[in-house]
Amino acid sequence: MSPIITRNLVSVEQNWLKQLSNAISDPYKLLEQLEIEATPWENGLKARRLFPMRVPQSFVDRMEKGNPYDPLLRQVLPLSQEFEVHDGYSEDPLEEQDNAVPGLLHKYHNRALMIVKGGCAVNCRYCFRRHFPYNENKGGKENWQQALDYISDKPEIDELILSGGDPLMAKDSELSWLIERAEQIPHLKTLRIHSRLPVVIPARITEQLCHLLANTRLNPVLVTHINHANEIDNEFKLAMARIKASGTTLLNQASCSKASTIAWRLSSSSVTRCLAQEFCRITCMYSIKYKVQRISTSVMNKRKRSSKV
Ligand code: SF4
Repeated sequence: MSPIITRNLVSVEQNWLKQLSNAISDPYKLLEQLEIEATPWENGLKARRLFPMRVPQSFVDRMEKGNPYDPLLRQVLPLSQEFEVHDGYSEDPLEEQDNAVPGLLHKYHNRALMIVKGGCAVNCRYCFRRHFPYNENKGGKENWQQALDYISDKPEIDELILSGGDPLMAKDSELSWLIERAEQIPHLKTLRIHSRLPVVIPARITEQLCHLLANTRLNPVLVTHINHANEIDNEFKLAMARIKASGTTLLNQASCSKASTIAWRLSSSSVTRCLAQEFCRITCMYSIKYKVQRISTSVMNKRKRSSKV
């Protein structure tokens, strides 16, 4: 059933889209706004040639002025270590670039992951998909339909993961199209959405999105991506309360060296700050360390697999 869109809902959608289009892409402007001297970081800033910088104002507003080591800033600021080259490192640490059909990864028996959109609201320096060939896996109805056809033919798949990039970069009308078709595949039971948008731009949790998740026959799960307690503000808590009320299960994943495999369940009322602070205690924010960890894990997994064969 298509949701009714009122003028008010349209203006809410325009709100997050406006925030998205006003995202900061110039690291000098970002440092200036944060009252941080750019000179010591100048070499690192050139790393935006490798992966553009992008961060919405609402996320910048949660950074501490004058602190070049602010944990939110460190996630988005290009750094000179990104130019380092080491033997044994891979641009495809999770071995995802050999996919089933364009825009669909089928690595695990009962789950398929759809690259809904290639873009993100924020570009995280540690991203393990920063080298993913999004151009060959374009997010659009043609590829989505191919992916859905593939899933239809595989009765063992009971969980559809919407990922990217960021799947919530898709507008609610596009998500509605996608979810309606996914619901028609009888063996699909769970719809899991992995997104950083709810914390980066909480206004992305629109009434229309909540309505979609509340009314799907699939079991909806939203996995947010929060790395540090400072990312959690009041607007985010309210957004989570809205989506929780839709009956969606809320989980979090974090990108860090020690906690990369940890997911925590968001509390039923809202995200509690103490829980987040405990989480942040074990979280390491340095992107390069994270990359090393992911790659070494990937190499170790590869070795384990080949020793089993
Ligand atoms: S939001 Fe996710 S996919 Fe996008 S850059 Fe950050 S980690 Fe990568």
